Amino acid sequence: MRRSYDSCKRVLVTGGGGFLGSHLIDRLLSDGHEVVCADNLFTGTKRNIEHLHANPRFEFLRHDITFPLYVEVDEIYNLACPASPVQYQHDPVQTTKTSVHGAINMLGLAKRLNCRILQASTSEVYGDPAIHPQTEQYWGNVNPIGPRSCYDEGKRCAETLFFDYHRQCGLEIKVARIFNTYGPRMHRADGRVVSNFIIQALSGEPITLYGDGSQTRSFCYVDDLVDGLVRLMESRASFTGPVNLGNDGEFTIRELAELVLAETGSSSELVHLPLPRDDPRQRRPNISLAKAELGWQPRIRLQDGLKPTIAFFRGDQAPRRRRQDEPYLVAVGDN
Ligand code: NAD
Ligand code: UDP
Ligand code: UDP
Repeated sequence: MRRSYDSCKRVLVTGGGGFLGSHLIDRLLSDGHEVVCADNLFTGTKRNIEHLHANPRFEFLRHDITFPLYVEVDEIYNLACPASPVQYQHDPVQTTKTSVHGAINMLGLAKRLNCRILQASTSEVYGDPAIHPQTEQYWGNVNPIGPRSCYDEGKRCAETLFFDYHRQCGLEIKVARIFNTYGPRMHRADGRVVSNFIIQALSGEPITLYGDGSQTRSFCYVDDLVDGLVRLMESRASFTGPVNLGNDGEFTIRELAELVLAETGSSSELVHLPLPRDDPRQRRPNISLAKAELGWQPRIRLQDGLKPTIAFFRGDQAPRRRRQDEPYLVAVGDN
């Protein structure tokens, strides 16, 4: 949708060079907005956004959000943070700084500009959950001193900061608790389960099941997730969240492996490796709040979302520009 001058916003996306951020930017540009992307390219790549450089409504800033940022924008999506356990544990102190110092800087920016700011929080705030499925009221079961804590506690502290800036400064905030999301442009080497299994299946290598593979996750296709983020940003001013965004289908990791084998036609064998420490046993969002407040629910089944994801890894193609007439897998505004 091309916007009029009045409805066109200038939007800051931190972490826009990453997996989710680059899809969000595609969507915002396609909706007619201007986008400023701030990213230090720690886990993101120029390749994810190279198709955008000729677009006069797109601007890239190589910037680490643990340092102050002075730009003029109408809205902020704060996505900057490594998301895969392998990557966020690589430099755990920097991970906490990114979540905490980064949130302070982006909230300070939003305060100066008096603009809306959305935080990409995570289902990891629930830790290894003692209730199932997880609702937003659940306070979580998080180890504060384990190898995952830099991410989980960093994101929890960022949520605290968002709500304190909201209460103390009247800032309009939106907090999304994102559950496992997958799709094209996932990083090949980030060790996340969907990309690992697809790459292993395509190369005929063994599929690595950690533990007995009975732990569960819920997998949301990236277009569904991006649609949820945009709806949350556009929701009524008094709605802050936190709100769960994810697919409420629940699969064991073994079921995922079998699905990937079927979709790729691979004959890779399944092998068992030790379960990482503090690996959550089960995870599934309760998405009643997102349905009621945002009119949002995921549309794309795992089988359907795996196809374009497998095609991406098969070709490992550079991200291409979405054709003007090419719909998102989610029909925007289609409840
Ligand atoms: P990603 O690693 O692909 O993207 C993160 C981006 O942030 C990268 O481009 C990276 O270079 C950038 N970044 C990291 N530290 C930075 C810093 N200090 N300053 C500036 N840029 C920095 O991960 P993703 O999957 O796209 O996740 C995006 C956001 O969504 C993250 O905040 C993540 O915690 C959250 N999230 C993702 C998932 C998921 O399943 N993908 C689930 C829950 C939450
Ligand atoms: N900040 C920023 N850009 C701005 C305004 C603020 O990066 O346009 C940063 C600044 O570095 C500050 C942080 O946001 O440390 C928090 O700002 P706030 O106004 O809340 O606190 P203070 O400046 O009083 O520490
Ligand atoms: N996993 C696996 N094999 C892999 C990668 C991950 O069995 O090659 C498991 C991992 O132990 C976890 C689940 O898949 O139980 C999801 O892992 P991921 O790192 O994608 O995300 P998490 O939800 O743990 O942050």
